[in-house]
Amino acid sequence: MSQSSRELSTQVLVVNRNLQAVHVTTARRAFVLMFTDAARALDASWVAHDFDAWASLPAGDGPSVGTSRGPIRVPRVVQLAGFDRMPRTSIRLTRRNIFLRDGYTCQYCARRGTPRDLNLDHVMPRSRGGPMSWENVVCSCRVCNLAKGGRTPAEADMRLLRRPVRPRWSPILALAFSPGRPAEWEPFLASLPGARELQALWDQTPAQASFAESA
Ligand SMILES: [Zn+2]
Repeated sequence: MSQSSRELSTQVLVVNRNLQAVHVTTARRAFVLMFTDAARALDASWVAHDFDAWASLPAGDGPSVGTSRGPIRVPRVVQLAGFDRMPRTSIRLTRRNIFLRDGYTCQYCARRGTPRDLNLDHVMPRSRGGPMSWENVVCSCRVCNLAKGGRTPAEADMRLLRRPVRPRWSPILALAFSPGRPAEWEPFLASLPGARELQALWDQTPAQASFAESA
């Protein structure tokens, strides 16, 4: 990937006119929204800039893209200009959201992993009718997943760290949460339901419990 296409993949938070976070998009899409006047970039003081105004600002130290008129800073947050899109209300049952709910931590041996180290485990095995649901699927390391096989935790003499439930976070939080998210997103995320819970979950898992990043 070239430098510019990497910068164009930078994640940008999208907020509506009420400054509610509604989506996360790419810098490429954010520039298209700005160029078509569908959105304006918010600077650190939350002043909104249209494409021309934004392009005339100094590029600064953060990610920027090269254009014929010089480097343009990638906005961290853009605000939709038109209709007030509302945040999604239901959280999707996805691999990433299950990992996030479980703090990227194996729910049997408590080790944290990268997405490559981790699997989804059906507590009541799929082969015995266990559904893909918030209550029946947990994050598990490959070792525990293999050891458990087609058995229930009781049959395999394994214990879950906690009972799996549907998370209560805002869906946008699930989309926007990552340990390396830009500081500029914080004011838009901090007050959302579940923000503290999610951060605490992340902070509480001891780093020494992690799998090697290269594993
Ligand atoms: Zn494990």
